[in-house]
Amino acid sequence: MAFLRLLCRLGPALILLALLAARPAAAEHRAVPSFAPACHAATDAARTAATMRTRAGWVCSNSEWHAATPVAWLRFEAGDWRGQELPHYFFSRTARFKSITFHVIDTDGATRTRRMTGADGTPFPSGPVFQLPLPEVTAKTATILARIEAPHSVPLLTEARITHDPGRAEWSQVDMMLLAFVVGMLTLPLLFDISFYVVLRERFILLHAAMVTAMMIYVLTAGGLISAFLILPVDLLGVLAPLSWAVGSGIAALFLTTFLERGAQSRLMRRITAATGWFTICVPGFFALQIDATQRIDDIGYFIAFLPCIFVISAAVLEAVLRGSRSARYIAVAWAPIIIASIERMLRGLGWHVGPSSLDQMMYVAVGIEVVVISLAISDRFLALRRERDAALTEAKMLEQISTRDSLTGLMNRRAIEARFDELMVQGFNTFALVDLDRFKAINDLHGHQVGDAALIACASAIRASGDRDAVAVRLGGEEFVVLLRGPRPLERAEAMRQSIPLRIAKEVPGLDLPVTASMGLVMLAEASRHKMAFAELYARADALMYEAKASGRNRMAYERLTMFTAAPEGRKEADERAA
Ligand code: GH3
Ligand code: MG
Ligand code: MG
Repeated sequence: MAFLRLLCRLGPALILLALLAARPAAAEHRAVPSFAPACHAATDAARTAATMRTRAGWVCSNSEWHAATPVAWLRFEAGDWRGQELPHYFFSRTARFKSITFHVIDTDGATRTRRMTGADGTPFPSGPVFQLPLPEVTAKTATILARIEAPHSVPLLTEARITHDPGRAEWSQVDMMLLAFVVGMLTLPLLFDISFYVVLRERFILLHAAMVTAMMIYVLTAGGLISAFLILPVDLLGVLAPLSWAVGSGIAALFLTTFLERGAQSRLMRRITAATGWFTICVPGFFALQIDATQRIDDIGYFIAFLPCIFVISAAVLEAVLRGSRSARYIAVAWAPIIIASIERMLRGLGWHVGPSSLDQMMYVAVGIEVVVISLAISDRFLALRRERDAALTEAKMLEQISTRDSLTGLMNRRAIEARFDELMVQGFNTFALVDLDRFKAINDLHGHQVGDAALIACASAIRASGDRDAVAVRLGGEEFVVLLRGPRPLERAEAMRQSIPLRIAKEVPGLDLPVTASMGLVMLAEASRHKMAFAELYARADALMYEAKASGRNRMAYERLTMFTAAPEGRKEADERAA
């Protein structure tokens, strides 16, 4: 239900994003026309422009594109731009290549040639594109050949165009605004993550932040928006975009293993997902670098190496959804558009389907959707984890309460006082008063256990002295209590407390024919904070005094003041004063 509600709430935003994605590709809105190559070819390095002029080996349809070739040729025909402004620039999708040599051939055979490298290219903020100036094109120009040495990617060929003004031929301002909007959206989850991580140190939050950062670099570089405020070399741009996508996708798999609830993934699936994450960072990440040695396989290598990631993530999310994982349902909604866009991008990257780079916008919109939904998922999980943590804390507190409190009276129990005794001594609780009710067995015998219990509760409230930070009351067991005191006049305060017991019991337990009195054995330690004594030892002394109090008639106190000398720990001096 919550999931449906979420979908409803997200609905308008999703529809808006989908509409933006479905906008007719920018090609239809170009203010300035641009021209695709009429034919293309893949050859070895030996072929020259002169041999290529003999029209052999060209493919003059939008198929059979290959980047895995030493040299790729593009041929632009004057017939295409007849009657329009003459083209002055070549532009294409940013990718690595060794060099591009243009041959502008006039009808009379005159040829102007210019060889350029990536360093001569200028990226411009109109998509993942760069431009190169053509040698002079005149009204007499018949053909332009572009010889691309060691191209690293098919879209570098399929998306190549020539135009009068590339800045106005590619993406519109609306497209760039969409990109800027997505980048803006990506910064929010980063802020979210930081604030979540402060509260909840979960690894998935860090992984999510890393994933968002990678996606932001991807959107900025692949979308070309970065060129609006930072001119990076074409070669670097051509590496950054696929690299950030590989790293981001790999981290997404790792994120999945840490984000899903315990039990939402089988052990095997978790291992496979994590391994796929690392594989995706390393292998497509490596191909993204487009080093010279792998030029022939970069393109296919990069996209094929994404297959495990797409497949495993889909399987892992499906498994978790089937296992009833709430987080997995969020992820399914968040990642489905990305997976679809990735497949489209992969087919286009492999040259199996040809489309304009403006199709990439689908990916940016998908990234926008994913970020919003995953942020919601993280908040949801965050709240769930916090609820779990709070419940665990409450339970721990309850357990502690149970193990340290006496259930009948709510006073501290013997276990708790034994555990805390040394600490209390250090805090200055230097008077140990043992309290035992007189002839209590008779109360039980005469009035029953329930009345006896009520009397014990009344006794506890008499000695609890609630709010008194200088007295700690404990029920040791049966009708035996201990009160630890610190501060001035401990003797008087203890005696007053002892005398309040029968009054309190009489008040709270009506119907008793005789007052229930208490006897007390009290030990006062001089300098308790400097000379520690064990609980058992003090208890034994207080018990002996208690025996004296009972023996001499009950309803009284027996006490002693102990002065200890550190110099002679064995033969402690005791009982300066003793009274009964
Ligand atoms: P005195 O201490 O004055 O020598 O006599 P007494 O009758 O209090 O002696 P004793 O310590 O032998 O008896 C304690 C009695 O306390 C025994 C038992 O029936 C009663 N008692 C111990 N724990 C509980 C309890 O949790 N509830 C009730 N109702 N009675 C308890
Ligand atoms: Mg007793
Ligand atoms: Mg007793």
